[in-house]
Amino acid sequence: MEVKIFEPISFCFGVKRAIELVNKIREEYPYNNIYLFGELIHNKSVMDDLALKGINVVEFSKNSAEVKLNSFKKGDIVIFSAHGHDKNYEEILIKNGVKYFDSTCPIVKINLNRISKANGDVIFVGKEGHPETLASLSKGKNVYLYDINSKFDYSQIKSEQVYVMNQTTLSIFELKRIFKDIKEHFPNAIFTDEICNESRIRQENIASISDDYDLVIVIGDKNSSNTTKLFDIANKNKNRKNYLVSNLDEVKTIDLSQHKKVALFSGTSCPKYIIDEIFEYLRGI
Ligand code: SF4
Repeated sequence: MEVKIFEPISFCFGVKRAIELVNKIREEYPYNNIYLFGELIHNKSVMDDLALKGINVVEFSKNSAEVKLNSFKKGDIVIFSAHGHDKNYEEILIKNGVKYFDSTCPIVKINLNRISKANGDVIFVGKEGHPETLASLSKGKNVYLYDINSKFDYSQIKSEQVYVMNQTTLSIFELKRIFKDIKEHFPNAIFTDEICNESRIRQENIASISDDYDLVIVIGDKNSSNTTKLFDIANKNKNRKNYLVSNLDEVKTIDLSQHKKVALFSGTSCPKYIIDEIFEYLRGI
């Protein structure tokens, strides 16, 4: 089978940076309990590898976060995810004398700083419950969520000046549609359009691959925002088969007998070894 890997593939710089930070902390604090407050990145294989090093994820919801943060003890180390977090969480740890580290991607941080400085109402376009959305909403009462899966209630916006910011890993096509809707209500709104390049280039590549490919496989976890967006874009082309898989075992369940040419893409949190395994398997068919 003819197989082509479309670059960029595997980890983006934000994910690499977060994993390196966690490994460095493990080395520096070999005897402390180290916790990830929410998944560092959305990839089960990476989280399993970290668990083998004794670094476990503490799951939380908006309602349970405070109780969970208060359960950490002096000597514990808490690491916040690469997607961002509510800044108020840090205050709780400081009050309790618990050491913490922030692995937030610099691109997400730029966006969060922009939101903090906005002198008016901010419409934040994102997915409800995603850590980046929660971090952005925590920036102030002037930040309103335009959930990508719901209609937005424009009557909430009272300020003369409206800023529009967005989650960094949304689909560029979905965002275009939502920006058009917002422009119709607020023609003078200031738009930032901060889809990170790591996501944007992958999306543009998958949207423009030639029709010679009769199969597209997107590799990554189903709870990874940028991965599912890649798959959504691929899936718009119904003339070929498109699959989202997280590992080689899932590829083995696909009937490949009718396929001759396959294009491989991955989300930004997918380890390279998983891509290599799938590549070698497909090449051998
Ligand atoms: S996908 Fe983009 S925003 Fe998210 S961690 Fe990677 S570089 Fe940062």
